[in-house]
Amino acid sequence: MMKNYLSRVDKRIFKVIRDIGRAADRQGLRAYIVGGIVRDIILGRKNLDIDIVTEGPAIPFAQSVAKATGAKVTVYPQFGTATLHWPFGLRLDLVAARQESYPHPGALPQVRPGTLKDDLFRRDFTINAMAVCLNHDRWGQLVDEFGGLQDAREKKIRVLHERSFSDDPTRILRSVRFEQRLRFHIEPWTLGLLKQALRPAGSSRGEPLGLRPKAPPPRGTYGCGEEEKAFDNVKPPRYFTEFKKMLAEEQPQRHLTRLKALGALRIVDAALKTDFRLLKRIQQRLSQAPEDIACNRWIISLMAITETMSGVKLRSFLRKFPFRKEESESILQAARSEHVLRRLSAPELSRSQAYGILKPFHQDTVAYLRLRASPKKVVQRVDQYFRHDAGTRTDIDGEDLKRLGVSPGKKIGTILQKVLFMKIDGRVKNRKQQLAAAAALAAK
Ligand code: ATP
Repeated sequence: MMKNYLSRVDKRIFKVIRDIGRAADRQGLRAYIVGGIVRDIILGRKNLDIDIVTEGPAIPFAQSVAKATGAKVTVYPQFGTATLHWPFGLRLDLVAARQESYPHPGALPQVRPGTLKDDLFRRDFTINAMAVCLNHDRWGQLVDEFGGLQDAREKKIRVLHERSFSDDPTRILRSVRFEQRLRFHIEPWTLGLLKQALRPAGSSRGEPLGLRPKAPPPRGTYGCGEEEKAFDNVKPPRYFTEFKKMLAEEQPQRHLTRLKALGALRIVDAALKTDFRLLKRIQQRLSQAPEDIACNRWIISLMAITETMSGVKLRSFLRKFPFRKEESESILQAARSEHVLRRLSAPELSRSQAYGILKPFHQDTVAYLRLRASPKKVVQRVDQYFRHDAGTRTDIDGEDLKRLGVSPGKKIGTILQKVLFMKIDGRVKNRKQQLAAAAALAAK
């Protein structure tokens, strides 16, 4: 009997995709779950990120699913895609099957409507190029055109055709990410192609190693020699998106060590630090850290590998990629960690003094400092700020001070800050004590 790949999915997802299958039957089109979710069902890994491919227009279909199931729908007519949201937190992307071709290496692909097979063929690796049908007559059946199931069993990362890395060099980062996350290995033919894609322009390309997988002939129009330009054609933000995903993985140091060994770290940035000991230490601490260390994992990892970069290199790194203002500020702040932690290790330091040192830093920088800190006393100081003092407010405000006769202006802020410091140090507790302290300060 044919295996049903949907028998083990999460109950709520099961209900949603069953409804989608029924809606597809009613509309007379085919619907499939595809990509990462199929890979993770096969590997028994949790994944709530669901992509659906339809053979037939996706937007009207998404709208009818939303009507039938009570989901909220957002449509993107310019891309022919739609997103459905369910109140319990599930998000689902729908897109009509498409084929892609690359006008030149590293360019953004040109997209046309296609069959499911075309849609699977445009994907990165065989394990990510499988689908499971949701229609009643083929409910739960796997579509595996390129040997993804066998590769998943043999723990192999394999591209679908020999131009894959030059079409899209960001796949170099993706191959390492899946290899390290799943503890798979990039199989020899794919590894040969990856190394070839990394060779500097002008060097001989040589034959790829190993055997090719069963795959349709490569498509695309670009000619001999153009592969070498692939790197330059990819805009930094596209690498950066993938690099961030890598930095957010568990144990990113393993991913980066592998990238370095392949000579591929430079495709992100030539100045990146290549010693990942600090990153490893930070990650070990992060894995033991209490839940309330809420932080962006990728940014913490990035801080650990950019901390000792020279100022000039760090600034040019921050200019190269699309960081938000607060992100680049946090990363620049983290580059001063050594100095800040030294100040925090002073033998006599009140809680309000620690507050004064840490207050200018963004939350991610403070989280990083906490993970970076030693000895214990410094960890405790950062912790105290992080958990308690950062959120402390006075129980009096400027209006109270005006009523005390303080004229509007800078002085109000100064007094309020002093009262805040007194509260942090436990020298004033309730509003009454704070008003008394403020009055005394105003009289000075
Ligand atoms: P993750 O668990 O990290 O989210 P994922 O496989 O779902 O893994 P996504 O980046 O969300 O990763 O991509 C979803 C799917 O889209 C992939 O499984 C793959 O089929 C396809 N895909 C994504 N990026 C590429 C790419 N650069 N080239 C080809 N196919 C890609």
